[in-house]
Amino acid sequence: MRRKLHVLIQFEVCDRHNPVEARKPKPGYHARGLAADLVPLAVPLRAFYEVVRAETRIKGIGVDHAAGYIHVDVRGAAEPVFWVYRNSRAVVTADPLQEVAYG
Ligand SMILES: [Zn+2]
Repeated sequence: MRRKLHVLIQFEVCDRHNPVEARKPKPGYHARGLAADLVPLAVPLRAFYEVVRAETRIKGIGVDHAAGYIHVDVRGAAEPVFWVYRNSRAVVTADPLQEVAYG
């Protein structure tokens, strides 16, 4: 059974506002049309993360707890990469939701 999810999609947030992306010599995943920043509108970020995590084509998942969105991209990688945004910086972590507890 398919459930309908309501999300707001922002395409260029990271590239323009994330200094890590902005410094990249090559265009990031957003610029290449391989990424989106998804803002869940009717479900908590944690529940939405589980939905995103279940999609095996998504190989890059970045959670911005403060801004309430999840970056997803379909980079060509064998294993998924996870990170959280902390003060506009991407910090790689094994569990982006666990970061909240340790803040
Ligand atoms: Zn993004």
